[in-house]
Amino acid sequence: MKIVIALGGNALGNSPQEQKEILKDSVKPIADLIQEGHQIILAHGNGPQVGMVLNAFDKDVELPMVEANAMTQGYIGYQLQQSLQNELMNRKINKPVVSLVTQVVVDENDSAFLHPTKPIGPFLSKEDALVQEELTGHTFIEDSGRGYRRVVPSPKPVDIVEIESIKQLVEDGQIVITVGGGGIPVIKNQGLLSGIDAVIDKDFASSQLAIQVQADLLIILTAVDQIAINFNKPNQQWLTSINIEQANQFIQEGHFAPGSMLPKIEAALNFVQHNPNNKVLITSLEKASLGIQEKTGTIIRHS
Ligand code: ADP
Ligand code: MG
Repeated sequence: MKIVIALGGNALGNSPQEQKEILKDSVKPIADLIQEGHQIILAHGNGPQVGMVLNAFDKDVELPMVEANAMTQGYIGYQLQQSLQNELMNRKINKPVVSLVTQVVVDENDSAFLHPTKPIGPFLSKEDALVQEELTGHTFIEDSGRGYRRVVPSPKPVDIVEIESIKQLVEDGQIVITVGGGGIPVIKNQGLLSGIDAVIDKDFASSQLAIQVQADLLIILTAVDQIAINFNKPNQQWLTSINIEQANQFIQEGHFAPGSMLPKIEAALNFVQHNPNNKVLITSLEKASLGIQEKTGTIIRHS
């Protein structure tokens, strides 16, 4: 199968040092799938990392969001390709792994630019957030009881600029890491590209990637084995398989938290609506192989 895998925050850790250690394990389930003969295209998030990069810069240097995105693609891609290459080497699997600096076109009239919603960077106390708001003019919101975080616009991906290169590499049997951190957001004006300050949701970018490479399966690897209705409530119920209609009903009933599970479900729907044969698996990193065998995880299918 041709599979797009989206790696969540828990596969990457919070600092480059931590990430390097975590990745040694994170790449194993991916190597398993490659060993099983699947064609893998990898995507990943960058929420905490992009905040870290912005904070690491000298306050005299105004680092634009779009370049911060590019930097996270670079170093996360580097560590990921190295870890996966090493793991494949250990298994005597001879396949090149490459990460691609990838631009993703967004619509400059996307309403997201008027309403920043995507939390990035560290969690702050209310007092510190207010001070930062004064100092920088950035917007901060309370994030799921965990503290205050900066929010940036999160427009929807429209087109992947480097798609032809990605397809060629995949066709050639190479493992491609692309749309890292949702891709570098760019707008197109009279055929010309230019960067724009935003963060594209990695779940939506991965879904767009899965559509454009004509994948059979999109796997979203996150911190939970399955999705649930009544999540974290006494009547919580894990879901094995849902179709478009059921997913829409559960969205309406508010079962999926905005900013965490909701974008995954919406991204999943986007992919399965595109082609009735398309399927999405949402599960944890450790359970990826079991999930493909439908022994765990949640499958989202057309009908
Ligand atoms: P990632 O970095 O993988 O995108 P997120 O934190 O954004 O991770 O989203 C995954 C989290 O969504 C889970 O760890 C879980 O706490 C939360 N979540 C919210 N609603 C649900 C739900 N209905 N079922 C399962 N998990 C949910
Ligand atoms: Mg997320």
